[in-house]
Amino acid sequence: MQYISTRGGITAVPFTETVKMGLATDGGLLLPRTIPRVDRSTFESWQGLSYQDLAFEVMARFIDDIPVSDLKALIKRSYEPFDHPDIAPLVHLDGLHILELFHGPTLAFKDIALQFLGNLFEYLLRRDDSFMNIIGATSGDTGSAAIYGVRGKERLNIFILHPHGRVSPIQERQMTSVTDANVFNIAIQGTFDDGQSIVKDIFGDVAFKGRYHLGAINSINWARILAQVVYYVASCLHITSHENDRATTFAVPTGNFGDIFAGYIAKKMLPEGCISKLVLATNANDILARMINQGDYSLGPVIATSSPSMDIQAASNFERYLYYLLDSSPQHVVAAMARFKEQGSLQLEDCLGHIRRDFVAVSVTEEEVLQTITECYRNHGYILDPHTAVGVRAALQQRAQGIPTVCLATAHPAKFAATVEQAIGRPLDLPASLAALLDLPTRCEIMAADRQQIQTYIANHALHR
Ligand SMILES: *Cc1c(COP(=O)(O)O)cnc(C)c1O
Repeated sequence: MQYISTRGGITAVPFTETVKMGLATDGGLLLPRTIPRVDRSTFESWQGLSYQDLAFEVMARFIDDIPVSDLKALIKRSYEPFDHPDIAPLVHLDGLHILELFHGPTLAFKDIALQFLGNLFEYLLRRDDSFMNIIGATSGDTGSAAIYGVRGKERLNIFILHPHGRVSPIQERQMTSVTDANVFNIAIQGTFDDGQSIVKDIFGDVAFKGRYHLGAINSINWARILAQVVYYVASCLHITSHENDRATTFAVPTGNFGDIFAGYIAKKMLPEGCISKLVLATNANDILARMINQGDYSLGPVIATSSPSMDIQAASNFERYLYYLLDSSPQHVVAAMARFKEQGSLQLEDCLGHIRRDFVAVSVTEEEVLQTITECYRNHGYILDPHTAVGVRAALQQRAQGIPTVCLATAHPAKFAATVEQAIGRPLDLPASLAALLDLPTRCEIMAADRQQIQTYIANHALHR
């Protein structure tokens, strides 16, 4: 399988090059040249496979430059740290199916992709006798999942900036209690935006970037999307066998459009009628819901909500979808992205027919999030985290008669205990893995939000030739 850029400015590359490249060198995003189709008999033959074996079948269709036994070993190692044998188990609540994606080491769905990406990086660096220094800024979940993805790995150091005192205590602990020699937590005296702009500036120093082989671990890496396609396929197999071959609708709490884009790839890949609709669920940051409902993709202010991992306006994976929406034309993507950069908005009314074949969208208020957590607990004894509640609320609103709906549960409720406790009216039990963090030693460098100082610190601790 060869990969191309949404902006058409690179010669096609194989899978492992896309992993190393991250962002395409022409500023676009990487996509498979074609999306492989799975016919019905192949799909049915996957019934009963373990999560890992299914992951291999799905991924192998997109990867032809890693030997079979190596890919199998990478997948196996990536899902060993998960605390459930099904990796992504489905829980059934009267007609709604909750897909629990939080059984990885940091209790958030990002582990599913970042455990795989960490192992993949290590594998490629060894193969190429190279090294990498990953730099990133986080407001919470991505940082800890990235750190757990690469802790203890060879040829790989990671530097994660978080805003000092502005991430939740659990998230801070999750990051700073990782004391492996290759992990560097930097708490900056500033905001998440300060951290992000410092990271951007450091990446902009081309000589520095080249010398230290800087790498990113954000959601634009194609390998992350690919790892997420697997659980859509797994859910469809389950629903097909338990609900008489009916199509499945997925409700997806959305921020950067990575998770739901994986669903879109699964929909294109699987036989007609496996996936009915993708319900895009947003909080008050509703740019993507406006895009789907009105064709209006225009930036608003970022609003802080109880689902902070979705407090995003410009979605970093949106350009991938735009490519398909604009008839796979790189020229049109380049023009549209230039217009968006200039005006902060894109009008896509002409595409509404196309959009509605695959998506519906709902924006959910803070009140509705609390109410959904309360009612789900009262009616089913099941506790949702605020991100998952956004998706469940959207699913209930969009539920079509007779179509099974799978709601993606993207975080464990204990990670967002304040909101959840308010909604259910009692304290939460802390899972053992989080409780254990409180007793661990921590390591973290507190620094001014000063680009030069931070860059010097990184240079002093980075791997280099
Ligand atoms: C990252 C995240 C999301 C949003 O996923 P995207 O791929 O950015 O759309 C939703 N919920 C949680 C808990 C997350 O960490």
